[in-house]
Amino acid sequence: MISIKEALEAMMPAFGPVGAERVGLMEAPGRFLAEDVLGRSDLPPFSNSAMDGYAVRAADVEGATEAAPVALPLAGESRAGGETPSALPAGRAMRIFTGAMMPPGADAVVMQENTAPDGDAVKILKAAGPGENVRAQGSDLAAGGVMLPAAARISAGEVGILAAQRVGAVTVYRRPVVAILSTGDELRDVTDPDEPGTIVNSNAYALSAQVREAGGIPWVLPNVPDDLEVTVQRLQEALTADLVISCGGVSVGDYDHVKEAFDRVGISADFWKVAVKPGKPLTFGLAGRTPVVGLPGNPISAMVTFEAFVRPGLRKMLGDPRPHRVRHEVTLTHPHRHSPGRPELGRATVARTESGLAATMLRLQGSGSLPSMVGVDALVMLPRGVRDFAAGATLQAILLRDGQGASEAPFEG
Ligand code: AMP
Ligand code: MG
Repeated sequence: MISIKEALEAMMPAFGPVGAERVGLMEAPGRFLAEDVLGRSDLPPFSNSAMDGYAVRAADVEGATEAAPVALPLAGESRAGGETPSALPAGRAMRIFTGAMMPPGADAVVMQENTAPDGDAVKILKAAGPGENVRAQGSDLAAGGVMLPAAARISAGEVGILAAQRVGAVTVYRRPVVAILSTGDELRDVTDPDEPGTIVNSNAYALSAQVREAGGIPWVLPNVPDDLEVTVQRLQEALTADLVISCGGVSVGDYDHVKEAFDRVGISADFWKVAVKPGKPLTFGLAGRTPVVGLPGNPISAMVTFEAFVRPGLRKMLGDPRPHRVRHEVTLTHPHRHSPGRPELGRATVARTESGLAATMLRLQGSGSLPSMVGVDALVMLPRGVRDFAAGATLQAILLRDGQGASEAPFEG
């Protein structure tokens, strides 16, 4: 039996980006840049006012106070989106609005609240130093430099700056197409009539959800009966994807044909017993450069091994330089017993308390018990060699969803 670490060390080098594509900014969030993006122009693109008020020369308003205001005759106005303002003559003030171009010659804006109207002039009640309330051209970003480096993740902020730079499309790593092959004569689809001895191919749905959540594009192939020829044929078809996941049929049963099918299509695969619970049988191989992962068929084993062994590789394919989930320390809220032979990725809900994350194991922990992945926040590592964990025991966990960052209460100060 090999360890989780050994399995990942063997698998991870085989995963990497599967090419790049141009996408529009609307499709870019969640993707990773395949190349540096240079700043095209200064930001702000022109010096403009940060306030509604009056553009002045700072020297003209030096020393102005409420008790000793400085009156400056008005010289036109500058508004956002309006015409380019003419130069500001010395000793004058120009009405200006937020976002409007600074007139040449002006170097400060006195905010409206510090002024009083005075016929054709304006009284300045408070001095403004050079640069005050002015957003200078290029002060946020100078044209020509690397604005966003390759491998940067695109989120709302990145989209915003790209748009401001008139970059309407970016080159990002492609989302991998992930073929999902489910084996088993007993499998039916959700819409099929209920027949004795059959079950719904729930793995195809659950794995698709996991693939999508991880950023991949799931491609579910028709169910594969426990027949070698059909398994070979479907596997060949699946190999047109960027990554192939099969589930079921990897054990030693008489109807488990995955091993032989891999041989037949030329996948030199390692069939492992990985020391992890749930999910002992696991297969990994390469068909050319396409990774093929054989997951166990039990629904919980399939989902947990996807999380542990497939998701990190899938994230690498997407170009994520940090493909692993963050490890958190959690404290058990209750005593818990597990069978100590293998490390176990137990399913838990997690609550944030004053003393950190508190984990409560789900009642059902069986590899085929579908409720044991319902409402799950975390996979908690229960190390081998320990049978009983006391309430308050500290364990390592990964959080599966951002539920831990969610609250019913607003963030109000
Ligand atoms: P196997 O790995 O093929 O021996 O399957 C192990 C268990 O998981 C059996 O009880 C199967 O019926 C069940 N199983 C296999 N594939 C699926 C699937 N795609 N969806 C739901 N259950 C499955
Ligand atoms: Mg089977």
